[in-house]
Amino acid sequence: MHKKLFIPGPTEVYPDVLEKMATPMIGHRTKDASALQEAISKKLQKVMMTNNTIVLSTSSGSGLMEGAVRSFTKTRAAVFSIGAFGKRWHKMCTSNGIAADLFESELGQITTPEMLEAALSTGKYDLITITQNETSTGIHNPMARLAEVYKKYPDVIVCVDAVSSMAGDLIPVDELGIDVCITSTQKCLGLPPGMAIASVSEKAIKKAETVENRGLYFDYLELVKFVKEKPYQYPSTPSESHMFALDYQLDKILEEGVENRYKRHCEMAKIAQDWAREHCELYSDPDNLSVTVTCVKNTTGKPFSEISKAMGERGYLMSNGYGPLKDITFRIAHMGDLTVEELQQYLKDLTEVIEA
Ligand SMILES: *Cc1c(COP(=O)(O)O)cnc(C)c1O
Repeated sequence: MHKKLFIPGPTEVYPDVLEKMATPMIGHRTKDASALQEAISKKLQKVMMTNNTIVLSTSSGSGLMEGAVRSFTKTRAAVFSIGAFGKRWHKMCTSNGIAADLFESELGQITTPEMLEAALSTGKYDLITITQNETSTGIHNPMARLAEVYKKYPDVIVCVDAVSSMAGDLIPVDELGIDVCITSTQKCLGLPPGMAIASVSEKAIKKAETVENRGLYFDYLELVKFVKEKPYQYPSTPSESHMFALDYQLDKILEEGVENRYKRHCEMAKIAQDWAREHCELYSDPDNLSVTVTCVKNTTGKPFSEISKAMGERGYLMSNGYGPLKDITFRIAHMGDLTVEELQQYLKDLTEVIEA
């Protein structure tokens, strides 16, 4: 039996979208392949609210995260971490020999404008990374307030991890002045895992031209070159299956409307948060809760394994905590194409299970 996914990626994929993955292959150097990539890029620009260049990568989001720090850091990166995924971005720097400092917030808390200002005012950094939505703690950063700070430092390249939030949360990339905004297919976009997406500003492209040892497969300049000059091609052979499904799913997303999709996510978040307050406790800063995933302190007295087993019997896959929060929290993902009704039914079942 397929267990319905209430985990923060991969998310449920509509059967008609899954079917598009089975579209017959085409030559990746053909005009049809370019037309497909162009269509995807134009639709993604709408979803991401940007005029920047869209690059695709046949990898998960981590590939483009690693590529970003390699392609755009010349002197030193400041990595702002609010949990597991921020820390991972720092590791991507150090394991590639990129000079980087880690600025960690307490788990469940945001990156503050003061932290950004303190780091950027030193003049030591030419790139920063920010986690827009931290999936391990269920927190989203106050991007508008952070943007007020980093916009004062126009030479700094701003890279944002929006892997678990793009197309769920509202992230107006150009308004926020984000140079490189990264996401994956398997979370709010509601597609199978296997492709990563990023928007890249002209400023970032110019910067990359001055950076050495950018690698090859995840070199943003190479990816951008194939989009701009070929045009709309991919340096190697992309996952065409994902592209067919992505092109189709983006139509569905735009049909729902980016704002409506955001509203649906907010509504689901509120339901999950209210449930957590009533039955358990919220783990994170109540003023900055994520709209795509809720991290709940397990105060039920039942171990997660028991709850999860009972939910499994009811046809659901649950998610435990992540990293150091593994045993003390569990997470309710409400992202992608889940509906309010599906979430309500899930929480009704969850209530019965914890009260049993
Ligand atoms: C899932 C996730 C990642 C990793 O993305 P992959 O596509 O699995 O490589 C990075 N950052 C955040 C915030 C995530 O939720």
